[in-house]
Amino acid sequence: ERNALTAFRDVTPKLADGTVIEVAANIGSLEEIDAALEAGAMGVGLFRTELLFMRHMHLPSEDMQAETYSALARAFAPHPVIVRTLDIGGDKPIAGIEFPEEENPFLGWRGIRMCLDRPDIFKRQLRALLRAAVHGNVKVMLPMVSEMDEVRRTKVLIAECAAELNAEGVPHAMFPLGVMIETPAAVLIAPALAREVDFFSIGTNDLTQYVMAADRLNPTVAKLNDVANPAVMSAIEMTARAGVEAGIMVGMCGEAAGRPDLIPAFIRMGLTELSMSPASIPRAKKVIADLKAAGG
Ligand code: PEP
Ligand code: MG
Repeated sequence: ERNALTAFRDVTPKLADGTVIEVAANIGSLEEIDAALEAGAMGVGLFRTELLFMRHMHLPSEDMQAETYSALARAFAPHPVIVRTLDIGGDKPIAGIEFPEEENPFLGWRGIRMCLDRPDIFKRQLRALLRAAVHGNVKVMLPMVSEMDEVRRTKVLIAECAAELNAEGVPHAMFPLGVMIETPAAVLIAPALAREVDFFSIGTNDLTQYVMAADRLNPTVAKLNDVANPAVMSAIEMTARAGVEAGIMVGMCGEAAGRPDLIPAFIRMGLTELSMSPASIPRAKKVIADLKAAGG
């Protein structure tokens, strides 16, 4: 069984009409690159940058971040690596950022909300990403987006960073900008968001907990925390439709992206990128290849 799956490692999964489905890896450090390549990852669909910030007793410098993102880009080039900007909140404190006491950290000051309030931290990361984009196929996505203004304000900061790097004579390149769709608000404004960004990546881990109003860490409500619930599937379908109509790529980077029972439905909805734990990649490739064989 394991050996049979290994055969799919080097497969580029395509649909009957020739559309390539990118099966990519979710990783959180450079140490995971080899396992992802070994599993057959066609790039990285989610690089979680939190670990970089949690590992040290101080915030990572721009140079250190630029080196990390560049090494990631080089390892997978020409495949894309999608780096998610810092997604941290009061449930995971880090050195160098003071978080307020919050009754509901999952509904609080986290992800893009925190970053926009701390442009000193956010711009350091954006500058590092612009510098890394010279070294490969870097894309950037924003976590926890719930209103258009967050995207617009981020674009202003990116333009400021690019202008600064220009003035300093530091090599850099513009990257495609996407948003994670992981709040119900983002789903409901997806048609408008799709006109502002280059791609969507659906974060089913959070989208499920927010659509179902069921804490993803609370075992008592685990039964409600199910992507296959019709309410969540409907939110995914609405997102896919908005993205497809606007002509942007729609992918998924929540754990559900690797579920063999759900992949056919996601593909029917129009998703063309699925990012998952490296261990799930060979099977996902097989599921997609089987769809084509079945005429799907
Ligand atoms: C998600 O919410 O689906 C996701 C991929 O991000 P995280 O699990 O890091 O919140
Ligand atoms: Mg999330």
